[in-house]
Amino acid sequence: MATQKPIIIIGAGLSGLAAARLLTDQGIPVIVFEQSQPDRSQGYGLTLRDWAYNALLEELGNPIGVSDFQRAVATDGAIGRTGWVDLTFRNNGTGETLFNPDPPKPGQPNTIFRANRSFLRNWLAEGVDVRYEHKLEGFQGEPGHVSAFFENGVVQEGSILVAADGVHSTVRGVAFPGNQTLNILPVILFHGKVNIPRAKYETAVSTALGPSNVAAGVGDSFNTFITVASANKEDVHLDWSYSRARQGDNDPLWMPDRGELIKVPQHLLKEIRSRDLVPPFSTLVNADDIKKDKVYNWRIRSVYISRAQLDQAAKRGVVFIGDSVHAMPIFGGEGGNHAILDGVDLFRAIQAASDGRDKNDLRAGEVEVIAQTFYDTALGRSQDAVKRCVQRFSAFHRPIQEWKKIAGMSKT
Ligand SMILES: Cc1cc2nc3c(=O)[nH]c(=O)nc-3n(C[C@H](O)[C@H](O)[C@H](O)COP(=O)(O)OP(=O)(O)OC[C@H]3O[C@@H](n4cnc5c(N)ncnc54)[C@H](O)[C@@H]3O)c2cc1C
Repeated sequence: MATQKPIIIIGAGLSGLAAARLLTDQGIPVIVFEQSQPDRSQGYGLTLRDWAYNALLEELGNPIGVSDFQRAVATDGAIGRTGWVDLTFRNNGTGETLFNPDPPKPGQPNTIFRANRSFLRNWLAEGVDVRYEHKLEGFQGEPGHVSAFFENGVVQEGSILVAADGVHSTVRGVAFPGNQTLNILPVILFHGKVNIPRAKYETAVSTALGPSNVAAGVGDSFNTFITVASANKEDVHLDWSYSRARQGDNDPLWMPDRGELIKVPQHLLKEIRSRDLVPPFSTLVNADDIKKDKVYNWRIRSVYISRAQLDQAAKRGVVFIGDSVHAMPIFGGEGGNHAILDGVDLFRAIQAASDGRDKNDLRAGEVEVIAQTFYDTALGRSQDAVKRCVQRFSAFHRPIQEWKKIAGMSKT
């Protein structure tokens, strides 16, 4: 039975917009519904890898080259740069270089760079029908015919419902009520934002880092990361984080039930003061400065949904992409890359299922094939990444002796 209905995507994040941009470019009807207003925030920086962005650029027919793309979305694109990143781990108590898990290969172009999430979202959203301030509340249906219900009273009919609504996915909650798909890792992570004049940045941070948009600092079972969110001629917007493993049942900084943005806990200030950090880490992760602000108390989550559960949801016309189905730790993480690649893989599955005929007309049987093809291609890749990133993130909190051993081995 012909449906003549658009593809409905819930969430204008990286996964939803990557899919929507590719579908829109091919003239396939798609509408993205996003709960928030158009994003005017500074966004944050994330490391993008060539295996993800090259796939996207290829499907777009590569209308712009890699370096133009990088300049358009890079954290430091406004000052003519391309998001250069040096992932070297440094001892945050001495400044000593420990090792680089991903060193640049001499003579070869940099395959990783730092993009600003807001710049990237805006870039992906060009030409896409995004309906902001539409918060999904529920859905019902079957492949080829789904109805999405929004808090503002809007009801949208579509051929397929794409859940691209992130780690707290409403679609996941509706599809699997009471099912434990979200796991909070036993890690404490505090996060703050700082804007500093460019001149101060050049003297206080850049002298230690060069043009890198990331400074990865590790200490004795804790770490401090500094990242550039965006830079312009006058200012640099930076993010800092402080994290370590949860210490037993009475850890005073383990506060999973507290709000996300909180008054700085006294224990955090005390702990940071005891750490004896050196620049550039001490410049930002500085108790005297941060005590004046609020900090983000971030829970680090991972999501796991079995293939059997996903197949059940597909029988209701729903496909999950991005963090909604495979959220993973954000530091040393790959979630944004897999979100983009999911968008590409879903687009390819839709193209293949409706190949050779009018794509405005996705049929019920095709929707089921799309879901199967997509999960066959993408699910193993992203679920392996979740496992890998959970292990990697917990390894960031090693004792310093272990870091030194790794540094020694990498030099031999
Ligand atoms: C500080 C930080 C640093 C990170 N660094 C990296 C990195 O270096 N490398 C990397 O690969 N990844 C990184 N990540 C992870 C990466 O950002 C995410 O994996 C990626 O953004 C997920 O994309 P998504 O499209 O699945 O979800 P999201 O980007 O979370 O988008 C989901 C969208 O859905 C909307 N939404 C939610 N519920 C509803 C609803 N009910 N109705 C309508 N809309 C809804 C939300 O408002 C949101 O816009 C980082 C994340 C953070 C926070």
